[in-house]
Amino acid sequence: MASPKLSVIIPVHNESANIAPLCERLLPVLDRITSAWEVVFVDDGSRDDTLAIIKDIGRKEPRIGAVSFSRNFGKEIAIAAGLDHASGDAVVIMDADLQHPPEMIEAFVERWRDGYLMVYGQRTDRSDETRAKRGFAQAFYKLFSRFGEIPLPEGAGDFRLIDRKGVEVLRTLGERARFSKGLYAWIGFKATGVPFVVEERRFGTTQWSFRKLFRFAFDGIAAFSTVPLRIWTYIGFLVSFLAIATALFFMVRTLLFGTDLPGFPSLIVSIMFFSGIQLMSLGIVGEYVGRIFAEVKRRPLYVVAERIGGAAEISSDLV
Ligand code: UDP
Ligand code: MG
Repeated sequence: MASPKLSVIIPVHNESANIAPLCERLLPVLDRITSAWEVVFVDDGSRDDTLAIIKDIGRKEPRIGAVSFSRNFGKEIAIAAGLDHASGDAVVIMDADLQHPPEMIEAFVERWRDGYLMVYGQRTDRSDETRAKRGFAQAFYKLFSRFGEIPLPEGAGDFRLIDRKGVEVLRTLGERARFSKGLYAWIGFKATGVPFVVEERRFGTTQWSFRKLFRFAFDGIAAFSTVPLRIWTYIGFLVSFLAIATALFFMVRTLLFGTDLPGFPSLIVSIMFFSGIQLMSLGIVGEYVGRIFAEVKRRPLYVVAERIGGAAEISSDLV
């Protein structure tokens, strides 16, 4: 049997200065692992000469290819496209800016040969990031672990190796607002982390503005939780309960001390009570919208890890 093939997916957006240094470091690593490798660049609507540089390198090394988007679709979609175009038995996803050390791929492949279907790089420190970004990330992971439907491994990002089985499952998840980290965890399979230290970005600046990060975090929460929709039931219940308590308070006070402003208590109480009822009904609508949302995501009901005897085709199980 031929040696298993390794694909490397690299989403790129205006990374012209990084492509050559990246290839210089990446290709020797790949050659050490196997000769059956390919690199799939996904050009996410770059406006500089990123694609031209890749084409240039591709002419000399046919194992380097590229998919080019018509415009910027975002890194998450770029990864999805990479998975569609990679043909390897194992697929590695990494950034182009050399923040993900290519040498790590050897460790990934080793763990893969040990039988892990998913090997993720686990960053040991985030000291390269600004304090605001770190705090934001921390708050996000807290929120996610509290309300999300699956736990995310700590410090795991997009830098990872995924077995063909996992890739096929990921390809069937046709979500538009993609939150890859959540999807990697959602598909399950035997997974392990390999610690690594994030390096400095080689050239250019990060393309994640705060706005983009916030959008991304919201996509993550919204795709893996319906709590924001349903929480209104509880808040409404609480407000109505407070209204009843307030009514009792005013009643007792009026009976004991009389009233100084007639009409005021009943006004306040009825406003509170009906706001509560409104929030509750909003929450109930949220419950239904949440169910519709779960249905339209069309995720498969389950993921089969292995078949014993009979067909080994995994994709046929996902209907
Ligand atoms: N990227 C992309 N599309 C985008 C933004 C980024 O394909 O809209 C790529 C980028 O070229 C890089 C990777 O995603 O290879 C990570 O981007 P970046 O370094 O800006 O993110 P950070 O490391 O700050 O998380
Ligand atoms: Mg980066």
